[in-house]
Amino acid sequence: MSTNIVTNLEYIKTNAALHHTQNALLRKALMQHTTHDVDAVVTTIANAVTAKIDCTTCANCCKTLHPDLQLQEIVALAQELTITPQEFKYKYADNPNATSENCHFKNKPCAFLTNDKCTVYSLRPLSCADFPNLHKPNFKYRYKRIMEFYNMCPIIYNTIQQLKTYYLTPQI
Ligand code: SF4
Ligand code: SF4
Repeated sequence: MSTNIVTNLEYIKTNAALHHTQNALLRKALMQHTTHDVDAVVTTIANAVTAKIDCTTCANCCKTLHPDLQLQEIVALAQELTITPQEFKYKYADNPNATSENCHFKNKPCAFLTNDKCTVYSLRPLSCADFPNLHKPNFKYRYKRIMEFYNMCPIIYNTIQQLKTYYLTPQI
């Protein structure tokens, strides 16, 4: 299995656009295996990839996405900043009047990112902590959603490339 790890974001963005056919083949191949087996392979590969990538030198998710904000996360972050939750929402959320179900950080890069480090790391929202979501079950049914981030997250990109080697390379 290839262990060559790519972290150059420009390369990943450009190269990702060339892989539509292979990505579709991988999706087909995943559907031919059990959910349990696919999740086990994904976990093994994703853990190995993650161990080789330093997110603090990437931070691309913090620069390019709008993570979800839950109400209790807004309350905790507001308390940390000694402002009210409503003030927090006006300053940092995309929709100050939103319910927690449709509230997200509005700034890109995230207002809490400094020198590629999260300044509220212990209080970061679950959607930040969970990204890139490769550890969750039912990968083959979440494949389409995961692939929305294939061209911007090195962990996803390298995991998918290695999954192709695993599932699409003919076994001798
Ligand atoms: S999760 Fe992906 S996009 Fe975010 S910092 Fe790590 S490698 Fe970069
Ligand atoms: S809260 Fe922290 S982890 Fe989440 S996007 Fe902002 S800087 Fe990144």
